[in-house]
Amino acid sequence: MTKLRCPLEQPRDCPRHAAVAVAVAAALCGSAARPAAALETVLHMVDGRLVEHEGEVLLEDSAGGVMLRSPDGQLHIVPGPRMTRRSSDERPFEWLDAKQLAETLLAELPPGFRVHQSDHYTICYNTTDAYARWCSQLLERLQRAFIAHWKKRGCAVAAPERPLPVLIFADQQSYLEHARAELGASAANVIGYYSMATNRICMYDLTGSQALAREYGNRGSMRDISLLLAHPAAEPLVATVVHEATHQISFNCGLQTRFGANPLWMSEGLAMYFETPDLSSSRSWSGIGEVNYSRWDRFVANERQGRLLPFEKLIGSDDALRAPETAVDAYAQSWALNYFLIRWRPKQYGKYLMEIATKPPLTEPKPAQRLADFKKHFGDLETLQREFQRQMSRID
Ligand SMILES: [Zn+2]
Repeated sequence: MTKLRCPLEQPRDCPRHAAVAVAVAAALCGSAARPAAALETVLHMVDGRLVEHEGEVLLEDSAGGVMLRSPDGQLHIVPGPRMTRRSSDERPFEWLDAKQLAETLLAELPPGFRVHQSDHYTICYNTTDAYARWCSQLLERLQRAFIAHWKKRGCAVAAPERPLPVLIFADQQSYLEHARAELGASAANVIGYYSMATNRICMYDLTGSQALAREYGNRGSMRDISLLLAHPAAEPLVATVVHEATHQISFNCGLQTRFGANPLWMSEGLAMYFETPDLSSSRSWSGIGEVNYSRWDRFVANERQGRLLPFEKLIGSDDALRAPETAVDAYAQSWALNYFLIRWRPKQYGKYLMEIATKPPLTEPKPAQRLADFKKHFGDLETLQREFQRQMSRID
């Protein structure tokens, strides 16, 4: 069940040529106070259908394309040639509150979904109440630990001011029916995902995972759920939920910008760094920074066979992580590089992340620029690579 690749999406059809920023990047991650923008409405064609979105325009390009944020936090990228109408309103843009967000989500979901609100999450689910509560506690703990971790390393991060949306389906089948609309056939390869466009995490009840339920039985109470999911067989499932939840927090606390110029080795390595929860610890998050052994095993095997990618390739381009034949190895190496940088170059890594977060969204820096950004913070690649190999060889 281990997920090989994460479906973290890249912008498609984006108005990237001559993008004119009408809002600063910090506004995209929702952490900056800024004057209320006017509410705009755009109509555009999608697969022969006319679709309407309301929200604030964050970016626009010279061809009339826009990136619009709707009051529930979704980002809509509308290319100029597909837009049939754009109009402005006297009303200011206003975010939905937790109750309104829940109502909006419920209206999109099949009948039978309920809502669990926690401090930072609006969870819509049609599985057991206990499972929704178990998830909200996991997510809240992760978020607290994640934000404390980066604050300590000098990053300007803050807990999201608005609740983050989470959908939990009771079983894999109903999850797939929903996920296919967004991910297509690849939905079947993943047990959960974070969508940069909708800003939602979507997953299904892991205790309903048939192999687990058959073998380990009872899934009723919070205690049953904790016991079941603390079992080694559940580890890759829980790791996937934590991985996707890490993406969501990272894109909503000021550390990363949605549809920003995020190198994939960095976004994915960051999520993999947090993938190692210690579920036996119920009060704190003691899994941060543990060695991610499934990634490490792969990394070491490749290193021994001389199959590691040169740093230039991994850092300069997303290709190795995107291509199915190289993705698993490139993910393992990305974990290793991020692990090394976070552990042995924490301050530089924090500054590097904050600089990437300020780059304009919907742009794709060229390999030379990506390498220059990296070297600015971490220095000469050859020297770093030697230090990387020395430190990583000490892990056992
Ligand atoms: Zn990912």
